Amino acid sequence: MAVVETDVCIVGAGISSAMLAQKLAELHPGLSIAVVEAGRSIFDVENRMRYRDRMMKYGENPWPGDYIEDQSATGIVSRTMAVGGSALHWGGTCNRFSKEDLRLKSMYGLYTDWPIEWNELETFYCEAERRLGVSGEPSPFAGDERSQAYPMPSMPLDYSLRQLKTWGDKSGIPFQGAPQSKNTVAGYDGRSLCMRCGTCDICPTGAKYSPDFTFKKLLSEKKIVLHDQTLIRRLVLHDTKPIVVAAQGVHRDRPQEPIEYRARTFVVASGYTWSSHLLLLSATSRFPNGLANSSGLVGKYMNGHAFISSMVELNADVFPDMNPQMGLISRQFFRCATDRPYVRHDLRIWEAGSRNAVRLKDPSGRFLLGDEVASDWRSRSKRGTARVRAYYDVHPAESSQLTLDPSKRNKWGDPLPKIEHHLDTATQNRAAATKQHIQEVFERLARNDEGRILTTSEGRYLDHPAGGCRMGTDPAASVCDSFGRTHDHENLFVVGAPTLPTAGCTNGTLTFVALTLRSADRIAS
Ligand SMILES: Cc1cc2nc3c(=O)[nH]c(=O)nc-3n(C[C@H](O)[C@H](O)[C@H](O)COP(=O)(O)OP(=O)(O)OC[C@H]3O[C@@H](n4cnc5c(N)ncnc54)[C@H](O)[C@@H]3O)c2cc1C
Ligand code: SF4
Repeated sequence: MAVVETDVCIVGAGISSAMLAQKLAELHPGLSIAVVEAGRSIFDVENRMRYRDRMMKYGENPWPGDYIEDQSATGIVSRTMAVGGSALHWGGTCNRFSKEDLRLKSMYGLYTDWPIEWNELETFYCEAERRLGVSGEPSPFAGDERSQAYPMPSMPLDYSLRQLKTWGDKSGIPFQGAPQSKNTVAGYDGRSLCMRCGTCDICPTGAKYSPDFTFKKLLSEKKIVLHDQTLIRRLVLHDTKPIVVAAQGVHRDRPQEPIEYRARTFVVASGYTWSSHLLLLSATSRFPNGLANSSGLVGKYMNGHAFISSMVELNADVFPDMNPQMGLISRQFFRCATDRPYVRHDLRIWEAGSRNAVRLKDPSGRFLLGDEVASDWRSRSKRGTARVRAYYDVHPAESSQLTLDPSKRNKWGDPLPKIEHHLDTATQNRAAATKQHIQEVFERLARNDEGRILTTSEGRYLDHPAGGCRMGTDPAASVCDSFGRTHDHENLFVVGAPTLPTAGCTNGTLTFVALTLRSADRIAS
C-alpha cells in the first residue's frame, strides 16, 4: 500500500478545508499538509464562460463532473463532491448568526447552549469575512455591533432593489443589502470586480469567493499536497492508544492501489453529510459504534433551518434580472424578547423575475423588435413582484439523524448514509404560532403600495444543513469540544458544519468558516 506521511491530513476540500489549510500554512510555514478530496479538481478556468453559457441556455450543471455517481444517499445530501465542495455553487451570502443562537438554553430554556462566547466567535467572524472578502454595511440593530468594519463596502443597490427597500422600510422594518463574498473593490484578494451579471452559480470573472482559487494558490506556493479523486474509506486507530494513525483511501482510477495517509493530526472537513458517515464507517472492535462515538451521538441532532416564502405583487417599478442574486435582509427578528413566545427568523427580499422578465416575443408569438422590447418590458413592470422569505430557527430531536444504510452501497461496498430530519417537541409545539407570526410579517409588508400576496409556500427540507458531530463540554452529550477536537481521540478533529448544535435562522457558511478558523488556532498549537 502506498503511504503518504505529513503533519496534518485534512479529509475533504470544501470551503472549511480551504480556510483551514490556508490558515495552518500561514501559522506554521513548515507544516506539511495533505488535503484528500474524493472528487475532481475542476480547475479549467478557461472553460468557465462556456459552462456558464450552457447553464444559461440549457439549464446544465455549470460544474461538469462535480459529483460521484455512486456516492449518494437518502435524504437531503450534499451531492457536490469536487475540490471546492458545495461552495463552487454557492451564492456567497455571508450573514452572521446572533448571540441568541449561542444561548438558547440560558435565555429561553430551549434545546442547548453552544460552548463558546459570542465575543470570541465575533472575532472569528471578522477573520472569516476578511478571508472570504465580504462586502457589506453595518446593521442598525443593537446586538449586531461589529468589532471591525466589513472588508469592502456593500454592493450598491440597483434601481429595482431601491424600490423594494423603500417598500420594505415603509412597514417599519429596516432593510439593507445582504452581505456577500463578492468584490465591490477591484483587486481585493486578487479578484475582479463583481459585474452584477447574476450567474453566481458559476462566476465568470472570479469576483465571488470560491475555494478552488485558494487551493490553486496553496498548490502553486507548495503549501499543501492535494490528492483529488481519492475517497477516504476508513480512519485507522493505533493498536492500543485511542489516537488515529492513518486514513485509508482509494483513487477512483487506481482501485487496485489503496493509499494510506499517516499524520500526527487528522481533520475531518467533509461537510455535514460525509463527516459523521466516515466516523461511523471507521468502527473497530474497540469502538464498535464508530470513532469519536462513545456518546452515541455521531450522526445525531442533524439540523438546519426551516423556511417560508411568498411572492408579493406591489406597485413598484421592478425590472427583473438587473442583479437577481443580490437581495435585501432585515435582522429585526433575529432577537426575541424572553417574555414573548419564541420565534426568530431572518427576512429577505429579492426582485422576482418570473412574471415580468424581459421577453423577445409577445403572447401571440410575434417577435418584438427594437424599442418594442423595452416598452413591452416597462409596461409589464409597472406592478412589480417581490420574493420574500424567512429562514426560521428550529431545533433538532436526537432522532434527527444520519445512519449507515446497509441496503445502499457505493462501488467499494461501503454502506451509504441515510439522513432524516426531525424536530424536537418544543419546536413542533410552537410551529403553528411561528408560521402565523411569519405570515403576519409578510402581510405587514404587503399592506404597503397595494401589495398582494400571490402565493405562500413552506420549505420541505431544512436549509444550510449542519450537525451530526455536535460540540459541547460534556463528553456524554457531545462529540467534540468547541474547537472540534473529538472527546475520544486527541488527534482527531471535525471542523465546520457538523459541529453546530443548531443552525440559526440565516445562511450558515460564514459560521462554519468562523468556527473552522477558530479550530485552526488550536490545531496549529
Ligand atoms: C446552490 C447553492 C447555493 C448556496 N449559497 C449559499 C449562500 O449564499 N450562503 C451560504 O452561507 N451558504 C450557501 N450554500 C451552502 C454552502 O455552499 C455550504 O454550506 C458550504 O459549501 C459547505 O462547505 P463544507 O466545507 O462544510 O462542506 P462541502 O462543501 O460539502 O465540502 C466537503 C468536501 O469533502 C469531500 N469529502 C467528503 N467525504 C470525503 C471522504 N471520505 N474522502 C475524501 N473527500 C471527502 C467532498 O467531496 C466535498 O468536496 C449554498 C449551497 C448551494 C448548493
Ligand atoms: S454577479 Fe456575476 S460577476 Fe458578480 S459574483 Fe455573480 S457571477 Fe460573479
